[in-house]
Amino acid sequence: MLEPTIYELSSPGRVGVEFPAPDVPRAPLPEELERQDLPLPELSELDVVRHFTHISNLNYSIDFGFYPLGSCTMKYNPKVNEAAARLPGFAHTHPLQPIETVQGNLALMFELQEWLKEISGMAAVTLQPAAGAQGEYVGVLIMRAYHVSRGDRKRTKMLIPDSAHGTNPASSAMSGFEVVPVPTDNRGNVDLEALKSLCDDTIVGLMLTNPNTLGLFDENVLEVTRIVHEAGGLVYGDGANLNALLGIGRPGDMGFDILHFNLHKTFSTPHGGGGPGSGPVGVAAHLADFLPEPVVGIVEEGTEEIPPLYGFIRPIKSIGRIKSFHGHFGMAVRAYTYISMYGREGLRSIAEHAVLNANYLLARLRDHYPVPYDRICMHEFVLEGHLPGTEVHALDISKRLMDYNFHPPTNYFPLVVREALMIEPTETESKQTLDAFADAMIKIAEEAKTQPELLRSAPHNKPVSRLDEVKAAKELVLCCWLPEDVKA
Ligand SMILES: *Cc1c(COP(=O)(O)O)cnc(C)c1O
Repeated sequence: MLEPTIYELSSPGRVGVEFPAPDVPRAPLPEELERQDLPLPELSELDVVRHFTHISNLNYSIDFGFYPLGSCTMKYNPKVNEAAARLPGFAHTHPLQPIETVQGNLALMFELQEWLKEISGMAAVTLQPAAGAQGEYVGVLIMRAYHVSRGDRKRTKMLIPDSAHGTNPASSAMSGFEVVPVPTDNRGNVDLEALKSLCDDTIVGLMLTNPNTLGLFDENVLEVTRIVHEAGGLVYGDGANLNALLGIGRPGDMGFDILHFNLHKTFSTPHGGGGPGSGPVGVAAHLADFLPEPVVGIVEEGTEEIPPLYGFIRPIKSIGRIKSFHGHFGMAVRAYTYISMYGREGLRSIAEHAVLNANYLLARLRDHYPVPYDRICMHEFVLEGHLPGTEVHALDISKRLMDYNFHPPTNYFPLVVREALMIEPTETESKQTLDAFADAMIKIAEEAKTQPELLRSAPHNKPVSRLDEVKAAKELVLCCWLPEDVKA
């Protein structure tokens, strides 16, 4: 059943607000701005409040319930982050203000850059990229600029493990490189023999996610980065899974040359519909000169009495500007708040609890679902959603979970697992929530054997049932509320 739109609820003549009569002379509008046919809905304030409150209740969100979406780190967004981001000094500044008037904001950006450097072991950081995917694109452009700066122009191939997120091959292909897949071995690591055979003087480098999207730490990561470096390639780290390493291991110490951070994953800023993302990029010392401009730096050293003057700096071989202004500043404030609330010891406990929670869930589900790469996992793990002897698929299990009021895990990714169900509980969930989720998953595994139809026709208690997801993505209708004559 479709919910009525606010246009269908409209009642001619009803108003929500009455403006006082103007006490200044009416100023004529330019003619081209005047419209007689603006079809706005007519409702009372209460109509509007009830409509939007009602439809907001149809949403599933991290503030409503458990969200085990693997690879996405859907952790709780602490409300103190929002309070900090709304402080007038942060929220009401303009990116074109003279730097002398925004020293507090620049100090925050500078310090966040420093913290991300320390957390990751990288030498320099830009906060500009809008999300992880744009960070990858920046990283690949830096790899290209680095090779070209050395007169090394025959490198055209980017090696990418077959378990990688789709944005890795996309970023490489967008930069004009040929994508060469690297197989995964039977323990879920990069296949070293295959990697060696692919490494020669035509590789740009390797894009590696560690822990990878199977939730497994690559046991040979030092060997992997050494092999790539020996062939003259660079190693890009997809940092989407950094939540598992915080305070424990640093990609910079493992041989990564470039790394993106997803502030909206590891550092608890809102995802997607909740706000823009943010994908800072860190690089090792030999790549610092290639960072996009500008980075925040100290333009005038301070003294004991006078603080330093912060400003914007252009790295000398910069790949140029990648984003308007200075990145998503509000996200930097939230991440800064989050890191300062936790502190050094706290950050490490985030990773420890994320890994503990994932292993606890895996231990509870292991006997009920096939586990293709069954070893101690990091912050997430992957099950097979196809139960032996049943006709039930991963999608059916996910739809049935919705009947139990859980958001489904990530489905059909990574591609190296048939019928993948990728589960990431995160550190913010209690044992009670994990147990309730495990109980539902175990019940569903039983139902798959005894009442498969119940799964295949799920969900049963939601406002809409199975949607045509392909049609919804390919034939977007963004203005179905417009009256027919306006639509035409
Ligand atoms: C989320 C994710 C990305 C892309 O990051 P966005 O911030 O969504 O653009 C890349 N790789 C992996 C492994 C991810 O989980």
